Amino acid sequence: MSEIEQIGLSMNGFGVNAYIVHAPEGDIIVDAGAEPQKILGALRNPVAAILITHGHADHVGALEDVRRETGATVYMHPYDAENAGVTNYEPLQDGEGMALAGQGVYVLHTPGHTPGSVSFLVGSDQIVGDLILPGSVGRTDRANASWEEIEVSLRRVMPYWEPSTRLYAGHGDVMLAMEELGTNPYLPLGIV
Ligand SMILES: [Zn+2]
Ligand SMILES: [Zn+2]
Repeated sequence: MSEIEQIGLSMNGFGVNAYIVHAPEGDIIVDAGAEPQKILGALRNPVAAILITHGHADHVGALEDVRRETGATVYMHPYDAENAGVTNYEPLQDGEGMALAGQGVYVLHTPGHTPGSVSFLVGSDQIVGDLILPGSVGRTDRANASWEEIEVSLRRVMPYWEPSTRLYAGHGDVMLAMEELGTNPYLPLGIV
């Protein structure tokens, strides 16, 4: 079973998370916003892939440094790759199942915070980018953001929640989905 490690990074004093999925046959990096040496220093094994939840600068700011040092393939949704100016990548598709380093990763397109936001399902856990944040959801006051789409996206990830499900977000602490269900006022009711 894979271990998901949270790497807390600082981008000009603003906290953002990257993650390393320590999978049976290698490591998988999720997001690379800042402090590339801190991400690289947490690796234990060769990197099988770099997954990107969405194209905001605080999630891709260190991508080219991390890519250069690891030589790993970058996977992201084409909508956000285009907006972020990332050209060398493998496009992610909604509903895609990937086998990376001996770990199954299921991809859901979960737009709203950005048009190309995706969530990664790793076992019963979810790496959700800025779709869900502790006590909140991703900002929708920026260009190309949509509250209506966030709500549709929440209704796509929540049916997969189990009692043990943890949520790994782009900012803040790791969440227990069932705790969030009871306390986060932005989550629609009656889905889980
Ligand atoms: Zn964002
Ligand atoms: Zn963010």
